[in-house]
Amino acid sequence: MIGAVDIGGTKMAVGVVDGEGRVVSRLEAPTEAERSYEEGLDIVVGMLRKALDHAGEKIKGIGIGSTGPVNPVTGEFGDVDFLPRWRGKNPVHDLGEIFKVRVALENDADAGALGEAGWGAGRNRSRLVYVTIGTGIGGGIILDGQLYRGVDGAHPEVGHHVIDPSGPACSCGFHGCWEALATGPAMAAWFAQQRLPDSKSDGLSARQICQLARQGDASARRAVEREAYYLGLGLANLINLFTPETIVLGGSIMKSADLLLDPIRKVIRQGCRFVPFEKTELVLASLGEDANLIGAARVWHHRFGKKEAVFA
Ligand SMILES: [Zn+2]
Repeated sequence: MIGAVDIGGTKMAVGVVDGEGRVVSRLEAPTEAERSYEEGLDIVVGMLRKALDHAGEKIKGIGIGSTGPVNPVTGEFGDVDFLPRWRGKNPVHDLGEIFKVRVALENDADAGALGEAGWGAGRNRSRLVYVTIGTGIGGGIILDGQLYRGVDGAHPEVGHHVIDPSGPACSCGFHGCWEALATGPAMAAWFAQQRLPDSKSDGLSARQICQLARQGDASARRAVEREAYYLGLGLANLINLFTPETIVLGGSIMKSADLLLDPIRKVIRQGCRFVPFEKTELVLASLGEDANLIGAARVWHHRFGKKEAVFA
């Protein structure tokens, strides 16, 4: 059993995950920016103790997945915008002291990639790219069974590769990043712009737009086409760069995969002719709502578990 901690922009979830990737118990609390690190850590510790009580189990270790820049090597938090008071703090060290177990930390998209590669849709795939598309675009890359890291353990940001420099401004400073064009909110904003300001489309979510498209609404269909086009361009770039065996697609946008996958494949066919793109399978993430929590547990196995068990 592994204690799992998932720290995201809106909530912190904590759970106990067994050796097969099943969540045995879980609890969550809202993430509040104004909380001090000590208060936040107390909440995590309290939830973890409760989750262990519920499960009636002891844990062998703790895995953490967190949004934002975190240092997987030192365990230190960087400049995480939704937890400004955690900067420079080290929950890997602190949770290790409190629970007397080894603790491993990764960026949450990397945790998601490890979860899908270990227990999910990417099982037994040693070259895999995981992409999650929701309010942002995150991703993790597994090469030869190992999590790919950049310099100083840095997490590459696949959401910030530029698709169209004349596109909308992105939080990173560029224009037209994948994340600025193909997230749910980007799709919703484009759709609202296309409609007259007095129409009833104001504030429709990507999911609602997809529903309208299924009912045959012409402008919703255009929004879906555009979404698939930008998703396809980004995925084609990843295929050209990495030629992975598998791309695992997760996140809320993929709940509308029935509308998106065929046009995405069409874009890939148009532009990936110099690589064996047809060998890269696109599959949907299979770990569901608890993917990040399960991924956090997998982080521990990837770091400290038996090597042969990592992709067993
Ligand atoms: Zn960007």
